Amino acid sequence: MKRIADGVHQLKGFPPNGINVFLVKDVLIDAASRHATRRILRQLRGREVNAHALTHAHPDHQGASHAVCDALDIPLWCGEADAAAVEDPSLIGKRQPSHPVAQLFARALTGPAHAVARTLSEGDEVAGFKVLDVPGHSAGHVAFWREADRTLILGDVLNNMNVMTGIPGLQLPKPYLTPDPDLNRRSAKRLGELEPSVVCFGHGAPLRDTRKFVDFLAALPS
Ligand SMILES: [Zn+2]
Repeated sequence: MKRIADGVHQLKGFPPNGINVFLVKDVLIDAASRHATRRILRQLRGREVNAHALTHAHPDHQGASHAVCDALDIPLWCGEADAAAVEDPSLIGKRQPSHPVAQLFARALTGPAHAVARTLSEGDEVAGFKVLDVPGHSAGHVAFWREADRTLILGDVLNNMNVMTGIPGLQLPKPYLTPDPDLNRRSAKRLGELEPSVVCFGHGAPLRDTRKFVDFLAALPS
């Protein structure tokens, strides 16, 4: 795995930066699709991992969550409004737009149910990061913010890659994978105001260009 910031590591994925998983101190953030289980567990071998937190309950983030939590005997945490979908993954597809791509992802990537041990909401603390409520891409989407070194882990509020083509670049998540694009855009604009020095995305490489991030979000309609 690759060090991104103090105590923040990005696990290797395939293709690189395609679907990101981060180890933040002793908390695993996101768990890619159910097909990534062995790759994640292999990289965590010998590391201290005491909890698993989700940015949001979508198939490419909770796919391996159940298997990883079982294998490591660690609790699963997620945003309050996504907890029902983590515990009943049939809700994941139901809450997505009816677009065929969203429904295909739901069928192909969704992992099994797992009990949520702790629900996260604005102001909670996870591994030295503050939880921010950033709904829109999912109802209970959260981001993790560490003001001390301005590190932001934002899930899919913004992508740094086109998730369909793999071409790098900042963009809002696809509207057909986002139940409430207007709300998500407002959440994204809020994150731009933080002026982070490094941004970790669910999709795409980490970004250290604060100006690029801030300007992209400031230019979006409110
Ligand atoms: Zn995603």
